[in-house]
Amino acid sequence: MADVLLSKVRKNYNPAILKDTLRNINLDIKDGDFIVFVGPSGCGKSTLLRMIAGLEDITDGDLVINGTRMNDVPPSKRNIGMVFQSYALYPHMSVFDNMAFGLKLQHMDKKEILERVVKAADILGLEAFLERKPKALSGGQRQRVAIGRCIVQQPSVFLFDEPLSNLDAALRVKMRLEISKLHQDLNATIIYVTHDQVEAMTLADKICVLSPLKANAESNLEQFGAPLELYNHPVNLFVAGFIGSPKMNFLKGEILSIDEKSSVVKLITGERITACVDASRASVGDKVILGVRPENLVKVDSAEATGGKVTGKVIVTENLGAEFYVYMESGASEIGSDFTVKSESELAITAGDEFTVGIPASACHLFDEAGIAFPRTEVYKRS
Ligand code: ADP
Ligand code: MG
Repeated sequence: MADVLLSKVRKNYNPAILKDTLRNINLDIKDGDFIVFVGPSGCGKSTLLRMIAGLEDITDGDLVINGTRMNDVPPSKRNIGMVFQSYALYPHMSVFDNMAFGLKLQHMDKKEILERVVKAADILGLEAFLERKPKALSGGQRQRVAIGRCIVQQPSVFLFDEPLSNLDAALRVKMRLEISKLHQDLNATIIYVTHDQVEAMTLADKICVLSPLKANAESNLEQFGAPLELYNHPVNLFVAGFIGSPKMNFLKGEILSIDEKSSVVKLITGERITACVDASRASVGDKVILGVRPENLVKVDSAEATGGKVTGKVIVTENLGAEFYVYMESGASEIGSDFTVKSESELAITAGDEFTVGIPASACHLFDEAGIAFPRTEVYKRS
């Protein structure tokens, strides 16, 4: 089992063009933690995993596992197991042989190999399939074999690179639960890349949000914290917009008044919204972005609409049975972005209607012009 420490890690694939892929990545991963990397495609999630595995050089900084600097240790000596999106199984070998292959290469004792493969098959529910070839397995079973091949190596750290993204929706849910159970059973340190919000929120002890590195940015690690910490207290606009589905609504405005516990924002459409944030470092008149999640909006006449209201024109409504979504146009939104309302019950409105929703003051997030969040003084809970 293992602690993993990344300190000031930088990656530059091509020093000739001076463009870093990752910069100043600092992560303190404790033994047994389930860590999830999220971020838009191309931000460097796989690169970071591959550097930990030793498949890619670390340009600068240190990778320390259990107190030992690993930068120059070859992959085979790092005791790390990696599972990829493509299962990469050997088609001509049985499930048993696929799982045993790496151990045979290490000239492990036959009895030990048998024990390890049978145990992994038991954990993964593959006992009945050991003699089958991969082509006679479903996608989920193949991915389990790939995980099994990793488990038999008894690595101290498991790396998963979008392992479920090739599976259909129902199977993903099932495998997600299995991976969660696997983490409990093995008690291993797991680092897991996904672009699936639900996987990130449900599996992770801590989520690491990465962004595509901007030229002069100090780092592209945006925030590293527990799922609800990121959901309730995103440190900036990037994390606020990335964590949560549907995405947080953003409205443009300026600060009208500032108090320790709350501030009043005048939206560019003229509506006044009270937000429970400490904006004492700002000044009246500063341009700001107000954020509110679709699931935190309330009926305009509700006692919970303590922050104010927003009016817009309905573009589309969607009824998913258990949830009802309204996508509307608000003059205060960023150009091209909708204002989304999520309701638990169907609302009697249709496209073209004018619609007004209430905003609880404690549901508001507020960001300065640079996109940095003001601390929230209260966190909304639906009553
Ligand atoms: P993610 O997994 O987050 O989608 P990657 O780590 O695959 O992102 O890629 C991050 C960036 O590094 C991308 O711009 C990609 O083009 C670049 N990149 C990845 N691998 C290489 C490589 N072997 N050589 C040069 N650039 C690479
Ligand atoms: Mg990737």
